[in-house]
Amino acid sequence: MQKGTLYIVSTPIGNLEDITLRAIRILREVGLIAAEDTRRTRILLNAYQIDTPLTSLHDRNELKKGVHLIARLNEGIDMAYVSDAGTPGISDPGYIFVKQAIAQSIKVVPVPGPVAAVAALNVSGIPMDSFVFFAFLPSRRGKRRQLLESIKEETKTMVFYESPNRLVAALKDIGEILGDRQIAVSRELTKIYEETLRGTVSEVSESLRRRKIKGEITLVISGAAMDRTGLSAEEIRAKFQEARKDPESSTRDIVDALSEKMDMPKKEIYRQVLDFINEDSGE
Ligand code: SAM
Repeated sequence: MQKGTLYIVSTPIGNLEDITLRAIRILREVGLIAAEDTRRTRILLNAYQIDTPLTSLHDRNELKKGVHLIARLNEGIDMAYVSDAGTPGISDPGYIFVKQAIAQSIKVVPVPGPVAAVAALNVSGIPMDSFVFFAFLPSRRGKRRQLLESIKEETKTMVFYESPNRLVAALKDIGEILGDRQIAVSRELTKIYEETLRGTVSEVSESLRRRKIKGEITLVISGAAMDRTGLSAEEIRAKFQEARKDPESSTRDIVDALSEKMDMPKKEIYRQVLDFINEDSGE
């Protein structure tokens, strides 16, 4: 007998329109939808007149229920898995179920869509070409500070999920441990009260003072300065401006020389240099 297929389907992170045509079709066509919270998923299904049967699979029953659902897949039923919002497995259940399915040689097919981390990166104004996703910051201060200490040297952009209740305390620890870096705090993306606050950690903290912070929050924080010689961005800028005075030097020559001098990848120097040029020309 042919086994069923397991579709891992991304759903909206707020705005119900953020669902792909393919996701709607798959949710309609499969024999069963396993959902983290059937009541929440019902709202989405009702919006699209989908009446596929639903069953629950959440982090408290994922292992046991997964075994049962895998048996149904083995019988030939096609199934979709959806979490409450966004992409399953990303700070959500789904991973164990996928592992179980793979172990039983069941075909697992992604139906991609929204991820809050990526949406927040997109609007952060902080480099998004490479990044590290840390999921939720630890809720306890000690553990949070320990984690931040351990990633102080991370040069890639960092993305965290955070609860509104802990945001102010988290920003304080971020400022103290990582320094006054660029940060973007995105709240309620794709929803009515969507907003993104951008600036240094201290600027954003200041603008949040005396505000009641509600909703879902994602933090995007710039990586540690790439400069292994210990120079600040301002000092690198000064070096760049100095080198630029030489009419014989092209931007490429300057990037090559700075990269050599500072033992930094050319790509990173080029990115910083482009930032300087844009800032200088008032863009
Ligand atoms: N699986 C989801 C995804 O693909 O992004 C993440 C689920 S995780 C349990 C929920 C957390 O994601 C929230 O607490 C918040 O940190 C972040 N998040 C979810 N929706 C968001 C939104 N609309 N705006 C900002 N952050 C959001």
